[in-house]
Amino acid sequence: MSQPLPTPESLPLNALKEQRELTAAMLDLIGALIVILDAQGRIVYFNHACEQLTGYLRQEVQGKYAWDLLILPEDVASIQAIFDNLIPDNFPQPCESCWVTRDGDWRWIAWMDTVCLNEQGTVEYVIATGQDITERKQAEKALLELATLNQAILDSANYTIISTTVDGTISTFNRAAEKWLGYSASDVVGKTTPALFHDPEEIVERSHELCQELNTPIQPGFEAFVAKARRGEIDEREWTYIRHDGSRFPVLLSITALYNSDNQIVGFLGIGSDIIIRKQAEQSLRDSQHFSQRIADTVPGILYLYDVIEQRNVYANRSTVELLGYTPQDIQDIGTDFMSHLVHPEDIPHILEHQKHLTTLTEDDHLTLEYRMKHANGEWRWLRSRETVFSRTVAGLPKLLLGIAEDITDYKRVEDVLRQTNEDLEQRVEQRTADLENAHKQLRFHVENSPLGVIEWDSQFRVQGWSKQAERILGWKAEEVLGKQFNDWQFVYPDDFEFVHQKALNLLNPESPPEIIENRNLTKDGNVLYCQWYNSVLFDESNAVVSILSLVQDQTERKHDEEQLQQLNQQLQRSNQELEQFAYVASHDLREPLRKIRSYSDLLVKRYQGQLDERADKYIGYITDSVIRMQALITDLLTYSRVSRNELVLEPTDLGEILQQTLTDLSPAIEENQAIINTTHLPIVQANSLQIGQVLQNLIANAIKFRREQPPQIDIKADCQDDFWQISIQDNGIGIDPSYSDRIFAIFQRLHYREEYPGTGIGLAICQKIVERHGGKIWVESELGQGSTFYFTLPVV
Ligand code: ADP
Repeated sequence: MSQPLPTPESLPLNALKEQRELTAAMLDLIGALIVILDAQGRIVYFNHACEQLTGYLRQEVQGKYAWDLLILPEDVASIQAIFDNLIPDNFPQPCESCWVTRDGDWRWIAWMDTVCLNEQGTVEYVIATGQDITERKQAEKALLELATLNQAILDSANYTIISTTVDGTISTFNRAAEKWLGYSASDVVGKTTPALFHDPEEIVERSHELCQELNTPIQPGFEAFVAKARRGEIDEREWTYIRHDGSRFPVLLSITALYNSDNQIVGFLGIGSDIIIRKQAEQSLRDSQHFSQRIADTVPGILYLYDVIEQRNVYANRSTVELLGYTPQDIQDIGTDFMSHLVHPEDIPHILEHQKHLTTLTEDDHLTLEYRMKHANGEWRWLRSRETVFSRTVAGLPKLLLGIAEDITDYKRVEDVLRQTNEDLEQRVEQRTADLENAHKQLRFHVENSPLGVIEWDSQFRVQGWSKQAERILGWKAEEVLGKQFNDWQFVYPDDFEFVHQKALNLLNPESPPEIIENRNLTKDGNVLYCQWYNSVLFDESNAVVSILSLVQDQTERKHDEEQLQQLNQQLQRSNQELEQFAYVASHDLREPLRKIRSYSDLLVKRYQGQLDERADKYIGYITDSVIRMQALITDLLTYSRVSRNELVLEPTDLGEILQQTLTDLSPAIEENQAIINTTHLPIVQANSLQIGQVLQNLIANAIKFRREQPPQIDIKADCQDDFWQISIQDNGIGIDPSYSDRIFAIFQRLHYREEYPGTGIGLAICQKIVERHGGKIWVESELGQGSTFYFTLPVV
């Protein structure tokens, strides 16, 4: 309970001290801070409020300089300056300063300083009365910070923020608005919107709209913007802003009303966002999505996102339809059964193993793997995937894999075929190698067992190989001659050396034709061998000698045989000549006595036929027949021996002429047998005309003689064959059994009885001898009963 204060008149004079203490008590009571300092700044008085504020007791501070205890270090100098220059006129003066409390905290205090002067009129005491304003200061600071923040927000916003008073006077115009519209805040704040940067037509249009919408007249002005906000709605729509330079751009303007604490509208706030940027952003997002989609749909393969944690496909592009027959939706629907449904069971462990490696994969790494997936039609397709980690869990584990899979089924097939082919090839190579080894063995075997000695030489004619047979033939062992040239040892018979040397040089010429060389060699024992050499040289593309192979055959025995044969031939020729001489002499010399026998037997017939008995007549007939036959035989034999006896003079001879002469000679037989003879043009040949005439005569006479019932038809032709003329005489006679076709050319060989067909059996033997002397051949082609064709050849002139 407060008591009424005693008035000064009621106080006794000695009660001044008490009065002071009372004042102090009153001051304490109102909570004011009171500190009294002497003119040097020492604390003289420190009231209770000061004690409570600072935590110091009066006794502790009394006599201490204020700045030693209470003043912030940064303020000390300015406080001391006041005490250094205490001018009474400067007081009373207000000031705000901070006091430091005992526990280091500090408080803001608003001071009112006054001074007490002594009798000289100088300052004796400074009395400071203070109020703790710390809370107020803090509130002020917070307010300031908030205002700064608001301004910063306004300034940094990427929106135009324009606020107005209720009547449309612009009160805020932020940085973005300045930037976008080209006005500075100071230009527009205080001016009325919307006239400044809005399109009047648009405002009219909007006010019409609002009239309709709100069913109340709206003036085409500021009201068109705020009518809805005024009704507590947020009005958001597109407007056109006109820049200071006249250019225009669309904004999305959102207008709200601003209320005071009494919920009264105090203004409006319009926030505009640049639609162009948003539209551009939207477009570029759409573009980039489209781009990604296009990439995804055009990449040659399945592009997919796979959730390794949930083991399911998250995304697959359209190629999935093409490659696997599933739509992306089908794949989604398979869900977490993805692996077990689609991947080949044999490949799953491999894939899971692969996924373990993903943990250590960095952003740029990728893994490749091959596996089979089931096509919607049930087929297995081989895929090759390249995968990378697309996203991870918070713990850093791979979550989504981005991969691209290409169908390598065809490639795998080709690979299989290739592998198979390779295996086959390897097998074949092995087989070939084995075959080659075998062939090599066989070759070795044959080389070693050949009756020919096999010798291999290098281009310098140094021995490289020397077979066993070469050892057997020549007596020299391989080790004695290997590496030696053929003139390094007594190998070639000295008389033949020059010849052999020349032939060896010829061999080295790739142009020279291969030839068989015969020369004499010496065996190790010094025996002379007649050897036949078959040499062949292998040249490379540049005609350098690769190797020379010689096959050598010991011909010594054959040589001896030949010599013997030659001797025998000579003997035979001699005896043949003697025989022919004999035949000639015999047939020639026999003709005379035979003619006599014939004359006398004719006489016997003439004179004594019928006078002797019948048997004698028969005997005389036999003698006459035999003599006639013997004469014919001797004539033919003489003809035969003359063929080789007479020297053969060959000259161009017109066969056609010879044939005509022959036909003339044979005309009686032709007429008698009604033979038809067809001839073609016959050539001129190199021949002896008499003898060839004889051949034609014999063959045509036979063709007439060995006839059948029907009249003989004989075709005579000539065909040129390379160097020979081939003459043919074809008849339609009795023909010859082909087994006799050689025999009939032998002397005295006949196939018929004389009674059937007369003749001596020498005609064809003569023909053969003549034709062979002319260097030709004669033969027959025939079938019994089918006619015969005799052929003979003569050299072309
Ligand atoms: P020849 O005519 O004197 O009997 P050849 O030496 O001329 O003797 O003929 C030998 C044999 O060849 C004849 O006896 C005959 O049997 C047979 N011969 C020859 N020419 C013909 C032919 N054109 N048709 C059938 N047989 C033939």
